Amino acid sequence: MADCLFCKMLAGKIKPDVVYENDRIMAFRDINPQAPVHVLIIPKKHIATINDLHDTDTLLAGEIFIAAKKVAALTGIAESGYRTVMNCNADAGQSVFHIHLHVLGGRHLEWPPG
Ligand code: AMP
Ligand code: ZN
Repeated sequence: MADCLFCKMLAGKIKPDVVYENDRIMAFRDINPQAPVHVLIIPKKHIATINDLHDTDTLLAGEIFIAAKKVAALTGIAESGYRTVMNCNADAGQSVFHIHLHVLGGRHLEWPPG
């Protein structure tokens, strides 16, 4: 997707601070971190929102969570704890329409979210 920020990262036009990557997934630090550790995990395939996931994406969707576990270990928050969030559409505040799992940790996180 030419006009997608995260697809531009995947194409190398914008260079994120990558913390983990494999053939299907990339994880990089959020440019506006909301916690000491704030990493975004994206699939290398453009999928706009959770609503656009298909049954054939089952493995890819699962891989995003396996990547979250690896990111937590790599950034030192696996034991202290962390939150994963994927926003969908306006009410959740989704601003980039290429699905991404937020991994937040390194401080106590309040619940419920605002
Ligand atoms: P969401 O609001 O759930 O769609 O999350 C989008 C996230 O992308 C926000 O937390 C932004 O801070 C983050 N973001 C926007 N532009 C960049 C960028 N160039 N590099 C890293 N993260 C970004
Ligand atoms: Zn995209």
